[in-house]
Amino acid sequence: MIQFYTSDELQSHLTLLIKQGKALGFVPTMGALHEGHLSLIRRARLENDVVVCSIFVNPIQFNNASDLEKYPRTLEADLALLEPAGCDVVFIPSVEDMYPEPVKESFNFGYLDKIMEGKFRPGHFEGVAVVVRRLFEKVQPTRAYFGLKDYQQIAVVKSMMNQINSPVNLVPCEIVREPDGLAMSSRNVRLSAEARDRAPVIFQLLKSGRTMVANHSPAQIVEYVVSQFQLHPDFELEYFEIVDSETLLPLEAFSPDRSAIACVAVWLNKVRLIDNMLYSD
Ligand code: AMP
Repeated sequence: MIQFYTSDELQSHLTLLIKQGKALGFVPTMGALHEGHLSLIRRARLENDVVVCSIFVNPIQFNNASDLEKYPRTLEADLALLEPAGCDVVFIPSVEDMYPEPVKESFNFGYLDKIMEGKFRPGHFEGVAVVVRRLFEKVQPTRAYFGLKDYQQIAVVKSMMNQINSPVNLVPCEIVREPDGLAMSSRNVRLSAEARDRAPVIFQLLKSGRTMVANHSPAQIVEYVVSQFQLHPDFELEYFEIVDSETLLPLEAFSPDRSAIACVAVWLNKVRLIDNMLYSD
């Protein structure tokens, strides 16, 4: 596995491979890697000639300074995990390399970055779109792999790609969970032992809501799940919404021709956790 710390070195290496007609699979990450990230790398390995992973804690997507400061950084451990998972090239740029000048570009996501995550993390998706666009320009991947754990992020990245006519093929990948159902996340390591034991409540409540789909409206399920979160005072719910999985707009009623997804964001032990679950087959 080759490590590159600057865009120039990365690009001179990749340009050669692209000229040779190699298919490049790309997995952008912020490091503190876990099985969720590695599942993306393994999938990219199966579907491409060359697998590129980036590790970059993108400052402009953090709307909260302390979240950025506390974001786990475990580069040595990350590098040790990447090669056995099938990564060929890892790109670890500095902030100056990614942002040599103040960021000027902006996108128009319409309502997409004003709902759910967008409502609670103003500016977050703009920062995500900027960094993904720059990474795509540097790597020029054939396919890019994103986790469905960040469901809304995929919708925003697709919108950004439409706006710039990106030729990249976006591949959404299933959520990887701990055995007790907690969605894997780099932030999980910040949970106290006690909070970690409690965290699977999120998955359990997502599942409880799903069992109600046949006999209840989305609004009734939302009311039930929100009331259940209120019974757990250690959880501070930001939102629990059931939305159309294509448009991400709130769903009035379940119907066979629309697929529904429940999305949740919750604070536990000063750590913000997100998760989601399809509520249609
Ligand atoms: P991050 O390092 O948190 O920016 O995540 C990098 C990529 O890994 C994103 O596409 C995430 O959606 C994906 N990812 C993170 N956690 C998981 C998970 N538990 N299952 C699947 N993909 C994940």
